[in-house]
Amino acid sequence: MDTKHLTAAHVSEAADVIRRGGLLGIPTETVYGLGANGLDPDAVAAIFAAKGRPQDNPLILHVPDESWLERYCEDIPAVAYELAGRFWPGPLTMILKRKSMVPDAVTAGLDTVGMRCPDCKVTRDIIAAADLPVAAPSGNASGRPSPTSAQAMLEDMEGKIDALVDDGPCSVGVESTIIDLTVAPPRLLRPGGVTLEELEEVLGEVAVDDAVRRLMAPGEQPRAPGMKYRHYAPKAPVTVVKGEARCTAAYIQEKINDFSGVICFDEYRDFFPGHPVQTIGPAADQAAQARRIFDALRAFDHLEVTDIWAQSPTDTGLGLAVTNRLNKAAGFHIIEV
Ligand code: AMP
Ligand code: MG
Repeated sequence: MDTKHLTAAHVSEAADVIRRGGLLGIPTETVYGLGANGLDPDAVAAIFAAKGRPQDNPLILHVPDESWLERYCEDIPAVAYELAGRFWPGPLTMILKRKSMVPDAVTAGLDTVGMRCPDCKVTRDIIAAADLPVAAPSGNASGRPSPTSAQAMLEDMEGKIDALVDDGPCSVGVESTIIDLTVAPPRLLRPGGVTLEELEEVLGEVAVDDAVRRLMAPGEQPRAPGMKYRHYAPKAPVTVVKGEARCTAAYIQEKINDFSGVICFDEYRDFFPGHPVQTIGPAADQAAQARRIFDALRAFDHLEVTDIWAQSPTDTGLGLAVTNRLNKAAGFHIIEV
């Protein structure tokens, strides 16, 4: 099929794609998403087919504001509205009990559903115009780094989706934070643009799921099905080097071979002459690192490298999300120096 390239000027055309059961690339502040009518199991099945995504990995329902929560969820705790008031529109997905009208295809048969209101006006306008919740995972082919620009999404999806709305590069650059509000204490399933520290200010105690910081052992049952899959990976193997920035740069210098690629902070750009280098912003700028990390990983697929060495950001604040994505891309192959 021909993928139509749309912009923020085409809200009603984009809403039509959703209403007709088609596939639409949607911009959000986190990453580009692959959206379809979240009440139509056939449209949702087409998302899984286009991505090559395993069927047991659930999707998130995107809504234009918190008044839509009660359309699709029940037993909504007061704290959900408190979180929505503080962080929506924004990079926070809340896991809530679903109503039966939400199809199994969206939730992978779970009795819960992930709900999010993106901080992207054109996408909220499209959802409101369609008057349908939009189910969407990230717009990459399954297993690949998430797309943070329309061009990156087209690399994976040109010809496989009906249309894509280009609204420029994503301002956050890592996917939404996922917080499960159906358990006590609430549980962080995925770190993202809203930090753990910010959630704790509203919720008090927050449990951090094991899968955030380590690899699930074979046979181990994850909290959400999607947590067991290999993620975000470029084609070459990645090693993450953790420690003080000057030490990790020196360690990587020592270890790389002639065909290694490097992911480093801006300050260390010149440490690796003759090597393909992707910088992810200054060592102290976590927002820049979040915006750059997926592009940096993707860039190596266009370069001839045998392996990739990456300086690890610190894992506080937004850094918890950046290190989570990088560590997953590395299959948690991490060296501490
Ligand atoms: P993506 O943003 O592409 O990673 O896809 C959506 C993410 O939301 C996946 O990691 C899912 O596992 C997660 N997710 C969606 N619905 C639920 C749910 N009901 N419970 C737990 N996680 C969910
Ligand atoms: Mg994804």
